[in-house]
Amino acid sequence: MYLDVYTLFFLLGTVMFLVGIALLAVWWPSRSEPGLLYWAVSFFVRLPAIPLLMARGQIADRLSIDLANGFLLAGLGLGWVGTRMFARRRVNIVVAVAPMAIWFAACQVPSIYDEIGYRLFVYSALTAAYSFAIAFEFWRDAVLSGHRLKKWLAALFVVNGSVHLLRAVYGLVTYDSAGLLQRHGYLSMSVFVPLVLVVIGTMIAMAMYREEHLDTLKHDAAHDPLTNVLNRRAFLARAENVLREGLQDGVTVALLMLDLDHFKKVNDSHGHLAGDQVLKQVCARVTGMIRRTDLFGRMGGEEFAALLKVVAPDDAMLVAEKIRKAVRSMAIATDEGDLSVTVSIGVAEQMDDLYGFDEMMRRADAALYAAKLGGRDRVCDYSEGQGHPVPGNTGPVPAVEMVSSPDR
Ligand code: GH3
Ligand code: MG
Ligand code: MG
Repeated sequence: MYLDVYTLFFLLGTVMFLVGIALLAVWWPSRSEPGLLYWAVSFFVRLPAIPLLMARGQIADRLSIDLANGFLLAGLGLGWVGTRMFARRRVNIVVAVAPMAIWFAACQVPSIYDEIGYRLFVYSALTAAYSFAIAFEFWRDAVLSGHRLKKWLAALFVVNGSVHLLRAVYGLVTYDSAGLLQRHGYLSMSVFVPLVLVVIGTMIAMAMYREEHLDTLKHDAAHDPLTNVLNRRAFLARAENVLREGLQDGVTVALLMLDLDHFKKVNDSHGHLAGDQVLKQVCARVTGMIRRTDLFGRMGGEEFAALLKVVAPDDAMLVAEKIRKAVRSMAIATDEGDLSVTVSIGVAEQMDDLYGFDEMMRRADAALYAAKLGGRDRVCDYSEGQGHPVPGNTGPVPAVEMVSSPDR
């Protein structure tokens, strides 16, 4: 098979252009993933190299060698930037332009410039180094996020890096200025390999982006944007499962309803923004106190719910009490200075499947109401069968077991 190098160059240019357009098209609707944009731009930046490389011998070497490879290495630096952005890592501009800058510097050294083997070494060593760096970024991200596709991308860049490493070594040891470019198979392969890698890499990258985008959408649909805990809908949707699993495992399932005390005052005295900061930090604190398998969600405003699997019925009250104490001892850093808040908690437990989740909610709510009535900053347990209306209040309030009071 005869692979004409000009045809291959033309194909590579066309593919890079189309891939750039495809990446832009994927990026455009949400414009939220800068990594995609940088990867698209990195292909467009490489494009002018193609006609320059094809015109080798008919135009000045400074254009067909220096400038052409400069464009390719600028694109490589931008590819590295895009990869860092995918992973939400900082980008050092010096590292990004280094391949192009080193290349142009090397072109100014006659002993390197005049020897094709050395030029090949500089170009290939830079490409190998950056390919391995990009592979490392994808690999690290794959390990952290568990995304399989990123491992494939990492593998692809390891292949690219290895091919260029071989070329670099080859360039260094052969001193083959005359023969190298004449060997048609060699040149064809050095265009064909990137062509294949670009196509495969883009397909994997698109699939990866789709997978991540879907994960983000799923996460956003289930979480409260301010506090990043489950929103009401997701909490309720998952609660039934946790309850069923817990009861099947023979453990007690406890629902804690939490409501910050006099939160309106926090807003009124320190502003809504400080209020938001309080909500965020309280959520972070409580989330850190419960297990990953437990549920914690924002039911609305400054009201939260936790659904816990506990071994003994008393454990729920202990956890609730621990949370109450932890919240009241927090010095919450806000723009308005350090603030402190207290929380009232209502608890309802269930060991046997006597009633459903809705009834549990009603009971925890009633217990919370009792905690508020009892003076706030306290935990109340709903005790079955003892509920009775409190004179002067419209709703029924259960008799409650007070476990804590503000003086502690
Ligand atoms: P209580 O002890 O009886 O619970 O008193 P409270 O002031 O906490 O209760 P109330 O229901 O009267 O007020 C809740 C306040 O929570 C009112 C509302 O402005 C505030 N709030 C609700 N959602 C948010 C939010 O997302 N950010 C901020 N900053 N405040 C919020
Ligand atoms: Mg409140
Ligand atoms: Mg409230």
